[in-house]
Amino acid sequence: MELSALKGNEKIKEQLSQQERGRGLSHAYIISGPVGSGRHVLARLLAGGMLCTSKGEKPCGQCGPCLKVDKGIHPDLSVVTGPGEGKPITVDQIRALRSDAHIRPNEGERKVYLLEGADRMNPSAQNAMLKLLEEGPRYAAFLLLADNGGGLLETVRSRCEELVLSPAEHSGPVLPEEGAALVRELADALEGAGELELFQTAMALDSKRGREELSALLDALKKELGARAVRTEDRRRLLRAADLVDELRGAAKLNVNAGQLAGWLCAGMFSKDQTR
Ligand SMILES: [Zn+2]
Repeated sequence: MELSALKGNEKIKEQLSQQERGRGLSHAYIISGPVGSGRHVLARLLAGGMLCTSKGEKPCGQCGPCLKVDKGIHPDLSVVTGPGEGKPITVDQIRALRSDAHIRPNEGERKVYLLEGADRMNPSAQNAMLKLLEEGPRYAAFLLLADNGGGLLETVRSRCEELVLSPAEHSGPVLPEEGAALVRELADALEGAGELELFQTAMALDSKRGREELSALLDALKKELGARAVRTEDRRRLLRAADLVDELRGAAKLNVNAGQLAGWLCAGMFSKDQTR
């Protein structure tokens, strides 16, 4: 499949491409993930992949059906949203959808339904959906968009393939695996370790890493500290650490060495003047 419009999420792309080449795309997917992770992008690509008439990689983005999907005017693609801003899809809407699904496709081989906020449907709507998944016509395909797949009934989930998208990647340089581990270690040290341990951990912030990587590391560290501060009750130490990391990011632009950075962190965290 041609899925490059979706950023990151390489495993999911590979999985779908293999599936399409093999037994073909499934008739029901749950597409979940946080806001900004590309749920709608993937849903459009899958709908395009199901309706595209090209002989090559799908969706080709150029055939008549693809252009209609892109413009949102393909008669065999229906986007279902709740009745009004933020309202979940109702059981009556699902029932109407069931009748509609039994009318054969207008143009192509398939009919695709994209359901927004599927995890927020109440149990009766979800049960109606379940019936449709079990008994709907073979040409009908369902793309269930969800913040959290866990909000759907187990019975519904078991009838679908679940695609869990990862959050959009940081726009800066990508943090290598080792960098992510270092960020966790540093956050641990800043959150609870003594001065010596913090110093030793911080020494790993070697300036040989290059400014871009160092700056990406510090960004990730600040985010991690912020996320921890939300979860913990005593957030003073974490917030202080986050402020320090902010200052460090400024300093990191000035080619200071790892020892100086580590010293700075320790002084900031352990100086007697805790009111700073
Ligand atoms: Zn096409």
